Amino acid sequence: MTQRIVMPGLMEIGAGALDKVADMMGLLACSQPLIVTDQVMSDLGYVKRVQNSLAAQGMACGVFLDTEPEPTEASILPAVDQVVTGQYDCLIALGGGSAIDSAKAIGLLAQHGGKMQDYKVPHVVTEAILPVIAIPTTAGTGSEVTRVTIITDQETDEKMLCMGPGLIPRAAIIDYELTLSVPARIAADTGIDALTHAMEAYVSGKAGVFTDQQALAAMRLIAPNLRQAVNQPGNHAAKEKLMLGATMAGMAFSNASVALVHGMSRPIGAHFHVPHGMSNAMLLPVITEFSILASLERYADCARAMGLADDIISDQEAVERLMIELRQLNQDLKVPSLSAFGIDKAQYFSLLDTMAEQALASGSPNNNPRVPSKEQVIELYEKVWSEG
Ligand code: NAD
Repeated sequence: MTQRIVMPGLMEIGAGALDKVADMMGLLACSQPLIVTDQVMSDLGYVKRVQNSLAAQGMACGVFLDTEPEPTEASILPAVDQVVTGQYDCLIALGGGSAIDSAKAIGLLAQHGGKMQDYKVPHVVTEAILPVIAIPTTAGTGSEVTRVTIITDQETDEKMLCMGPGLIPRAAIIDYELTLSVPARIAADTGIDALTHAMEAYVSGKAGVFTDQQALAAMRLIAPNLRQAVNQPGNHAAKEKLMLGATMAGMAFSNASVALVHGMSRPIGAHFHVPHGMSNAMLLPVITEFSILASLERYADCARAMGLADDIISDQEAVERLMIELRQLNQDLKVPSLSAFGIDKAQYFSLLDTMAEQALASGSPNNNPRVPSKEQVIELYEKVWSEG
């Protein structure tokens, strides 16, 4: 069996990489960018740094400041208009996964028209979009290297998963220093998101030798550094490793897919506005426990890569340590339960059927080592509620 790998053609990685944005534009033969970002990036001075880098090489740019966290289709449409009526030859996505996903969707709709519904799975986005240079400012989603964008349909509250090689950013600038300003809560959520990507890519039914290496390397980088990166915002070494881990986890899952955690996480995010990484964290222990026996060896490898076990102890003991660590991590990083987050119990239970259908329709649960029935997905949602 072969594994098809897609990733950006150009990456600039390391402290200060942000200032190479104009060089990157030159390599892509682009000169008229629209920066797709948010007000936070402007307030932090990051937008100005990009503008200065461009101006130094005689390039002007437009700015779209109104991307939203967990973007809806409505939130990106003004930028689509701006691109269609303007003179832009590329997009610079500056921000977390939300800004990068927004840019991918803007680049798609501006080039090809239609609605995001038209492009959600099972459609495969092979359409070439306006070139995107992705500059992540969180260490989490890996969107800078993935063939994925997730846009919410504001009418139905569905988080639409859109995938295909057309959505790969043309270039990525991965500068961990941009993550030094991430607030602790967001650093925790995004970090667990990255860990979940690595674990799910490794146990996915679509895993392969190439993505296994990215996933294991990502776990080795993320797990021992996550707590420090969250609790010591100025810890450059931990932040750098977390950022590289998040990007490698992105490469792994973009090519091997995610699984049940992500499938069940998107409906929670869409219906109850729980940030993506946080809903993954809420689900990760229960879903791992459900899946573990179907892939004992692979989960034991995860435990070993995360530094929880050596080669001498049994796989069974390694996965027991993994389960303890996943619950402890949530406690240490103060991941709230569903009820502590403020979700209404009656509303949650009334949506279980819909959420289970949406989770299964995304296709991600089919990649899980243990593929659940709809009834089992509902039971798992119930268990996640009661465990909290
Ligand atoms: P985010 O982009 O939603 O950002 C959360 C908040 O953090 C925002 O208010 C943002 O302004 C702020 N922020 C970002 N960087 C900051 C910094 N350096 N300093 C201070 N504040 C900062 O968070 P995210 O977790 O990176 O992205 C979540 C989105 O990514 C969701 O919509 C999710 O569905 C999507 N996602 C996409 C993929 C993919 O492959 N395309 C994968 C996973 C998740």
